[in-house]
Amino acid sequence: MRELILLILLNVLLYLRLRKVLDKRLDRVRGRYQQAKSEHDRLFLENRRAGEDNARLSKSVEETIAIYNITKDICKSLDENKVFDNFRNEMNSYIQVSDCKLLKKDADLSSYQDHTILPLSIDKTHFGYLVTSRIKEEEKDKFHILSQQFLLGIKRALLYQKVQELTVRDGLTGVFSRRYLLERLNEELERSKKFKYNFSFLMVDVDHFKDFNDRYGHLVGDAILKEIAGVIKEGIRQIDLVGRYGGEEFSIILAETDKDEAGFIAERIRQAVENRVIKVYDENLKVTISIGISVFPGNADNVLTLIDTADCALYRAKQTGRNLTCIYGTE
Ligand code: GH3
Ligand code: MG
Ligand code: MG
Repeated sequence: MRELILLILLNVLLYLRLRKVLDKRLDRVRGRYQQAKSEHDRLFLENRRAGEDNARLSKSVEETIAIYNITKDICKSLDENKVFDNFRNEMNSYIQVSDCKLLKKDADLSSYQDHTILPLSIDKTHFGYLVTSRIKEEEKDKFHILSQQFLLGIKRALLYQKVQELTVRDGLTGVFSRRYLLERLNEELERSKKFKYNFSFLMVDVDHFKDFNDRYGHLVGDAILKEIAGVIKEGIRQIDLVGRYGGEEFSIILAETDKDEAGFIAERIRQAVENRVIKVYDENLKVTISIGISVFPGNADNVLTLIDTADCALYRAKQTGRNLTCIYGTE
């Protein structure tokens, strides 16, 4: 009996010991399971966050590409104002900016202190400012990208204008080029023929210009040409045209102007040049011009003869002493 009780006691002790060991192991396994589970949860969350970040990134890449793609929409016009209108419209589909303004480079910015102001420059030259009500931090990048597209559009428009100007205007004096003037001369002749108007064609040549070049140098010569172009422009009406025909020769088309009126206008210009003191560097120069006039249709009924006869009249002005006006056909 005693042995039986001892055996039972031993079994109970053994059971308790075993249980303790098993409980300990179970706790360890549970702990590891918990650890694995929370690691799994963490990874799951991280994965989800990475997925969201990825989607956000792809969206922003797509948006950025789309923003760059709108260059062609912003740049489709060659008119500065239209480029700005296009830019404003396109920008509004990406950022909510209702009050974007383009200010010139000398604009007063004091009333825009609480605005977003973006200075713009083209080829290192300050061009102006884009001003909008304050743009949200997260939209600033888009705004900058769009502004760059806008600048490209403006640059293209300015280049186009420059090329146009270069072919229409003479680079030195700013009056029309010979090519453009001759085109307009043809048009004026056709128009005058159709409506039975007179018009006059004047050839202007600087007297002894070579001497000025030789004595003072070509830069002074250039300055003289610019000044004379200015005097001629001051002496004609808006509907008239002046162009640089050649080196130191200018041509003028006086619309709807007969012989007497043309003689009067030419004299006024000649005298204005004669009386002008041209200040170049330290020199005060006096220059004179000679003018030959031909009138449509009295002296010529086509462009070539009109130029020829005006040239003949100019030649006579030179031969008879310079600083003179001569009308073709009147001795
Ligand atoms: P005239 O009274 O007979 O017209 O004499 P001129 O010296 O004015 O005439 P000429 O034709 O002998 O000389 C014209 C000069 O104009 C020669 C040329 O070097 C100069 N010239 C032509 N184009 C330019 C230019 O763009 N700038 C300068 N500085 N000189 C020019
Ligand atoms: Mg000449
Ligand atoms: Mg000359």
